[in-house]
Amino acid sequence: MLRKTLILSALVLALYVPTAQAQKTYLQCGRLLDMRQERVQTEATIVVENGRVVAVQKGYQSGGPTDKVIDLKNRTVLPGLIDCHVHLEDETSKDGFLKELTQNPADVAFNSLTYARKTLLAGFTTVRDLGGSGVNVALRNAINRGQVTGPRIFTVGKAISGTGGHMDPTNGYRLNLMGTPGPAEGVINGPDQGRQAVREQYKRGADLIKIASTGGVLSVAKDGSAPQMTEAEIRAIVETAHDLGLRVACHAHGAEGMKRAVRAGVNSIEHGTLMDDETMRLMVKNGTWYVPTITAGKSVADSAKIPNYYPPLVTPKALAIGPKLQGTFGRAYKAKVKIAFGTDAAVFRHGANALEFQYMVEAGMPAYEALRSATVSAAELLDQTANLGTLEPGKFADVVAVEGDPTQDIKVMQQVRFVMKQGMVYRQE
Ligand SMILES: [Zn+2]
Repeated sequence: MLRKTLILSALVLALYVPTAQAQKTYLQCGRLLDMRQERVQTEATIVVENGRVVAVQKGYQSGGPTDKVIDLKNRTVLPGLIDCHVHLEDETSKDGFLKELTQNPADVAFNSLTYARKTLLAGFTTVRDLGGSGVNVALRNAINRGQVTGPRIFTVGKAISGTGGHMDPTNGYRLNLMGTPGPAEGVINGPDQGRQAVREQYKRGADLIKIASTGGVLSVAKDGSAPQMTEAEIRAIVETAHDLGLRVACHAHGAEGMKRAVRAGVNSIEHGTLMDDETMRLMVKNGTWYVPTITAGKSVADSAKIPNYYPPLVTPKALAIGPKLQGTFGRAYKAKVKIAFGTDAAVFRHGANALEFQYMVEAGMPAYEALRSATVSAAELLDQTANLGTLEPGKFADVVAVEGDPTQDIKVMQQVRFVMKQGMVYRQE
């Protein structure tokens, strides 16, 4: 038996001849915004091999006879977009609250396939999934294995808050259905339970941690902005997460909850609706990122005008908090708070993520800066600058293309014509 194996191995070795070099893909770009500089280059070629950019060359190049050429001469080509705040397990609907009680994890998983696909086809090649039931971990893995189509996901698994807090999954339930969820379910009381909750998510495969330091709009609870965690709880969570190499994203609407979180060392504030000047200064000083989610604010305010769209406790919060986000974003940008692009897709329909660009520009951010927030800056927040954010040798071949020049008209980002993720083409028109 051993001899037979040896002979076989020898035969395999003898037959092995190095095959021709792996096929390269040449993307001929009419205009290229590589996000390393503000200037739009004309007539350039991106060379892709094994899922990564290997060169960016001047003029239209096409390689050898076995290489593949993609004609994007009528397009502006940019790095794949990154949305730092989505929820791929879910999407808004009038019966949203009821669905939480009727859907099984398998139903959630099948729905999430549609949302993931729409997100990728809209040009978002990478996302942070900031909270679901944990199905998002399996979705990430299935996408990474190439079994299903979707963006590259960095997920928090299940988000964490206090009892009755924004992330308590049993808010609004009948008493005998509420039970007493604990750290394993993302519900904590006290620093020790905070540490345990982080370790639970780490064990289940989370890439980062999400907490809610204040109330929120869509949880079935009265208050949407008061603090819901002590600074000691947040600090314990942040320390444990950072020890494990996980960053911490913090949902917050009210200023007090934001300040506690920023002082305790969270990496990003999500929404930040009632952010005051003092909080902005503190964020600049600590280098804390702001992920604005203006689109979510506008769409919850719109949905709240539809009778009975949300449970009665939610409607007044959506009307009060939603419309304020765009103004807060404008002030934070002027105050030089670091901004990373994020939409809270799920609160509105998946695939419409690029609306956020338009809202950012309306609020006073130049178009190039808005694009930077969804590429270079988002990659920094993700701690993925080695792989993502620009088009240059060594980075993943995540590439999108649009008609027209987005630095002149940001709305063209809402009609992405070409999507490549890690060297694979998912959309080409
Ligand atoms: Zn969210």
